[in-house]
Amino acid sequence: MEKFNTYFITGGAGFIGSHLTARALSEGKRVIALDNFSTGSIDNIDSFKSHPYYEFHEGSIHDLRLLKELSQSADIIFHLAAAVGVELIVNDPLNTIETNIRGTENVLHAATKNKTPVFIASTSEVYGKSEQFPFKEENDIVLGPSYLSRWSYAATKLVDEFLALAYSAQRELPVVIARFFNTIGPGQTGQYGMVVPRFIQQALAGESITVYGDGEQSRCFCHVSDVIEAVLRLINEPKAYGQVFNIGSQEEISINQLAERIISLTQQETQRQQRVKITHTPYEQAYRPGFEDTVRRVPDTSKVEQLVGWQPQYKLDRTIKDIIHSLVSAVAA
Ligand code: UDP
Repeated sequence: MEKFNTYFITGGAGFIGSHLTARALSEGKRVIALDNFSTGSIDNIDSFKSHPYYEFHEGSIHDLRLLKELSQSADIIFHLAAAVGVELIVNDPLNTIETNIRGTENVLHAATKNKTPVFIASTSEVYGKSEQFPFKEENDIVLGPSYLSRWSYAATKLVDEFLALAYSAQRELPVVIARFFNTIGPGQTGQYGMVVPRFIQQALAGESITVYGDGEQSRCFCHVSDVIEAVLRLINEPKAYGQVFNIGSQEEISINQLAERIISLTQQETQRQQRVKITHTPYEQAYRPGFEDTVRRVPDTSKVEQLVGWQPQYKLDRTIKDIIHSLVSAVAA
């Protein structure tokens, strides 16, 4: 039985935040959402706006007074607001650092008054260039040099983890931290560089698919509904407090294979005959000179599985089809 009734979601108009909102409202929860629309979108919250249990505030996690006010009425805080997307991070490291560090500190500070439990969204990016596969929560972390702004994202998210764990240890604040591994699903856009919706949008538009580098880098993509299920199980398990968990799929795929898979599934799902091409763009052209990509990223999810019995339910093909259908209906709307 779930013990929380009012969710305060930062980044509530974002991709994951809006899926969490939909799930919460469908289960009779109240939702207070905060977003500054930096990468979140009004379309993501359109269907909730008139819901009697939904309250939206346009504002920033830099606004401590507002955070304190909104936290007062909540019995759990999901902190999902962050600077996200590799392209955005490489182009605006200052905003990344300020949002991810100061913003998270504000959220933790606001939660402390009533000791409101906080869920902190971290990222698989924190494992950086580690070659200890699969990635386990207690592994050492290997990041690149500080003159490459790409690593600022991982570094800021690591500081968030340290901060949350320190609040847990020294202020008795209940916190749960999860490292998300390439979360994808309906409603996500390719606008900020996320590879799956971008490739699908390119395939639907009949444009060539832009694989960066040699395409042999690999990822494991996890359906957002699976991710939310894991998050909800964790925050309802007191033994999870004060701990860090990987959340992701173990179905590994190279970006070249992903491009092929998306081309054939798009053809199959939309009955198109035309076969789009795949192009390879060097990283320095796609991002910036000296850009370092993560070559391989695979989670070990035994910790979350053992504690709350979670395993992802969606296979990648099914997730890709869901995204194709959502993008086709977005175009038709
Ligand atoms: N990528 C690509 N073409 C694109 C966008 C991304 O080949 O148009 C690659 C990117 O270089 C990375 C992988 O796809 O190797 C996953 O990128 P994404 O930004 O989705 O997530 P990341 O794992 O980098 O956080």
